Amino acid sequence: MSKESAVEGIESDFMPYLLYDRKTLRNCIPVMLERLGLIERFKIDKEKLHHLVRDISRHMKRVPYHNFTHVFNIMHMCFIIIRKTNIREYLDDVDILSCMIGALGHDLDHPGFNNVYFQKLRHPIALKFYDQGILENYHSYMLTKLLSDPKNDILSGLSPEEK
Ligand SMILES: [Zn+2]
Repeated sequence: MSKESAVEGIESDFMPYLLYDRKTLRNCIPVMLERLGLIERFKIDKEKLHHLVRDISRHMKRVPYHNFTHVFNIMHMCFIIIRKTNIREYLDDVDILSCMIGALGHDLDHPGFNNVYFQKLRHPIALKFYDQGILENYHSYMLTKLLSDPKNDILSGLSPEEK
């Protein structure tokens, strides 16, 4: 399946994610943010966005489920819900941006094992987060870490109140 057909099918709630490679899926992300008006609204630097998406993609391990295709799937479902429902009457632009970026980063660097595994192993990640929502805290920590890199800082156009 070509890159063009991925972008053409982006407004469909049946997008065959598994038929596309990572690069093709990555290229759809700026298109979704553009169509939601977020690039213009928050003056998102496209080079930084490209860098962030590539960094996130590189941190997604090639595990059976919690991989880049999965996080793209969740982000795309958010896109479809935002585009096809009246949800924008209830959410502001910061909420929409948070939803989209949160979806992309919600399983960041997932190792393919669950919280119980890390807890029983007394793994440093479990100790770091006191056995509480170990992976959930880890994904959030990793996303914050990547966003804090100046090369990835797509939030620089937000006002202090919006941040
Ligand atoms: Zn997930």
